[in-house]
Amino acid sequence: MSGSTTCVEAAHYYLSAIRAKLRLNAFVDIYEEELLERAAALDKKRSSGAPIGKLHGVITGIKDVICYKGHKVTAASRILHKFTATYNATAVQKLLDEEALIIGSLNCDEFAMGSSNENSFYGNVLNALDEGRVPGGSSGGSAVAVQAGLCMVSLGSDTGGSVRQPADFCGIVGLKPTYGRISRYGLIAYASSFDQIGIFANNVPDVAAVLQVISGNDDFDSTASAISPDEYTFDTPSTGTYKIAYFKEALEHPSLDQEIAGTIKSFINNLPTQHFKVRAISFDLLDYIVPAYYVLTTAEASSNLSRFDGVRYGYRTNDDMADLTEFYKDTRSAGFGKEVKRRIMLGNFVLSSGYFDAYFTQAQKVRKQLSDKTALIFNDFDAILLPTVPSTAFKIGEKKDDPIAMYLADIYTVFANLTGIPAISIPLFRHSNGMPFGLQIMTYRFSELSLLSLSHQLMNVSRQDLHQSTNP
Ligand code: GLN
Repeated sequence: MSGSTTCVEAAHYYLSAIRAKLRLNAFVDIYEEELLERAAALDKKRSSGAPIGKLHGVITGIKDVICYKGHKVTAASRILHKFTATYNATAVQKLLDEEALIIGSLNCDEFAMGSSNENSFYGNVLNALDEGRVPGGSSGGSAVAVQAGLCMVSLGSDTGGSVRQPADFCGIVGLKPTYGRISRYGLIAYASSFDQIGIFANNVPDVAAVLQVISGNDDFDSTASAISPDEYTFDTPSTGTYKIAYFKEALEHPSLDQEIAGTIKSFINNLPTQHFKVRAISFDLLDYIVPAYYVLTTAEASSNLSRFDGVRYGYRTNDDMADLTEFYKDTRSAGFGKEVKRRIMLGNFVLSSGYFDAYFTQAQKVRKQLSDKTALIFNDFDAILLPTVPSTAFKIGEKKDDPIAMYLADIYTVFANLTGIPAISIPLFRHSNGMPFGLQIMTYRFSELSLLSLSHQLMNVSRQDLHQSTNP
């Protein structure tokens, strides 16, 4: 913050923006009183001349799968709808330590399973650019909160695209960092070997500022890497040449909207060649990645969600535990929504003794091949470009009853989660239907510095182009 406004003023501004746009249904909870108290304390501290935190006064929303001590965290599920977090997620603790102001928890698909925010216990979130359309999912509330100016930045989670896809649908920036970059401690698990906390913002430097604060080692998460966070600066644009690949099969895929394909191709062809050398490469595993993703993530989910049994956490249908199996059955049948149940059943099926080798083992082999292939690509290239989603934001209800169509639309995002690499969606384009869409960029593991600088440059290239075309 520049000092031209106070934290209390900023808090009031965003609280009234939220009030004016309650119909978007982006928030599950708003921490009004506490926000104003913390804002006043920060103002007092700043005016005393004390040094201020890296995120001093940054108004931040958090997805309803991230624990904030003393606040409800429900994964947008009936089974947890009265559950209160008993500790802070590491990412939340780090935000608080650097003086961010947490304004509320954000709506999402139940247990982060979905692509449209239509699977939430709290109802749909509306896309602020066209309220008849979905905002994407599963972090739909986190995307709309930034899109509609209800907070400055927000956290989501990305297991198969849940930050990048809603960022694409809402016209903002969404980053899924490298697996292990940010601690998952305090993030409600969906599929633990895929899950990462991700960041939404209006621009790349804001994403970088949050990433720098919340990433790093954590004694509470053995998968959090000890690699220390980068220092991100965007003052001096790199003068080198980026070697960039894109997958021929991805841009020619029959599911991809023709206008999106054409726009991305012409963007690539018009990049200044002294800075960006772009080449099409062949990638023959594209059609295997969605099946592999759904086999592996449902398997992990079926195990992760077994803890929600009505005994230890949240909602239960009744207190009669005389027949424990019946008790579990009643509670879990009533507590979980349709999509979550579908995935638990699918996961149990692919792990069951007769089918384990045919599904789970095969999917793991695909994952291994993908990782090997990806490592080879990054021997020759600095980055990979892909569309983020095959279409722009679709109408509410359009795909709700067709889970397979919904799953297949994850074709471009799940790749980064299967391989653990960092990926971002940047809002470069607008479709003739009026909706925005993004470009997805990926780099090798733990190279967020390169990913963010490249993204920043591409956003500037495109801004200049836009400028030229509108102001000849
Ligand atoms: N759409 C994907 C799914 O439903 C992504 C979910 C996510 O990243 N949390 O699994």
